[in-house]
Amino acid sequence: MQNESVYRELLEKFVKQFGREPSAVAYAPGRIEVLGNHTDYNEGFVFSAAIDCGTFFAAAPSGSSECRLVAADLMHEVVFDLHDIRPDKENDTWQNYVKGTFAGLIEGHDVKEGFLGMFLGNIPLGSGLSSSAALEMCTGLCLAKLYGIAVEPVPLAKIGQKAEHEYAGCKCGLLDQISSLAGKAGMLVKTDFRSLVYETVNMGNDVCFLMCNTVKHELVSGEYDQRRAACEAAAAHFAKELRHPVTHLRDVSMAEWAIYKRGLDETVANRAAHPIGEDERVLLGAERLKRGDLAGFGQLMFDSHYSSRYLFENSCEELDFVVDEARKIPGVYGARLSGGGFGGSVVVLVNPRDAETASVALANAYKAKYGTPCNVSVIHPSDGAHTL
Ligand code: ADP
Ligand code: MG
Repeated sequence: MQNESVYRELLEKFVKQFGREPSAVAYAPGRIEVLGNHTDYNEGFVFSAAIDCGTFFAAAPSGSSECRLVAADLMHEVVFDLHDIRPDKENDTWQNYVKGTFAGLIEGHDVKEGFLGMFLGNIPLGSGLSSSAALEMCTGLCLAKLYGIAVEPVPLAKIGQKAEHEYAGCKCGLLDQISSLAGKAGMLVKTDFRSLVYETVNMGNDVCFLMCNTVKHELVSGEYDQRRAACEAAAAHFAKELRHPVTHLRDVSMAEWAIYKRGLDETVANRAAHPIGEDERVLLGAERLKRGDLAGFGQLMFDSHYSSRYLFENSCEELDFVVDEARKIPGVYGARLSGGGFGGSVVVLVNPRDAETASVALANAYKAKYGTPCNVSVIHPSDGAHTL
């Protein structure tokens, strides 16, 4: 469904449900992670992009302290009081992203009136495109406008992250929210997760992405936690070995890794090589993009995937298969797993002329191997969240 028709359907349903027009509407897109994997919690760098589908949130004042919230695709309503905002872990769990964001937004503000709210989107849920962050960011922008609360992008991203942590129970980083807010058409977002400063980098018009959704992404939380622990252990080791300050793997170069990894457990050393290498690939990637070197940028995406596959071991058979197949297709510059790993999606950088044929080739190859096609969508880096 196109964004325009999602917007129209939402307005129609809003009027039907609440008997009035909304007084504020906001939109926020999903995101793809393009380069820089597991670097956010190592205070490193990530290239991401906002995508061309997203979620709309419409709201009006409720006239009392009551809040009424409707997920428009389900037409299911949740009612709660402004002074008693609590997550519900059992029913309509979509409410938690909205409630958590609302609670964070109004903290420290004297808000006396509730809202009538409704949202609708076209991002496939749970497929690694971050529908949850899109929901948080459109909620945040819409309600900030409704209540006249001024909020800057990074604090709003942190409100969304807190909603994930405390209301939805997902310990995510800030990448999803920042990408949804900061994206620009035809641009990648390059974020420094130490300073939380981000910039957009032009990709030109000769590229788009394919997202190939393989097996259901399960952030096998035990595996994820083990990777984080290995990165922390490695950072502590390098902090002892190196003369300059090291608090995170961000502070260690690949050259230092090669010399000073002695004494580290081999698996831990391999784990550490991944985010360190990823940081260097993001910085190198920025230089290559500046020169218009798409083949060089794509090579870094392949390098990133093989680093995931062999060093960090956060890939899986299906992801490896798609990346290996993508390498054979003309017009494909690069491919890698996108997001946490252990399943989920492969992101492919491709010339738009070849996007359709590449999509069909990948879906068919996947079907021949696994019996079911993988879902492939063509994605163009797009504008980030905004009010309407
Ligand atoms: P992802 O963020 O990768 O899509 P998550 O599991 O983090 O996956 O978030 C998906 C959840 O977000 C859904 O299960 C649902 O609760 C909520 N959600 C996000 N967008 C919508 C929407 N438009 N309608 C209903 N629920 C939504
Ligand atoms: Mg999510």
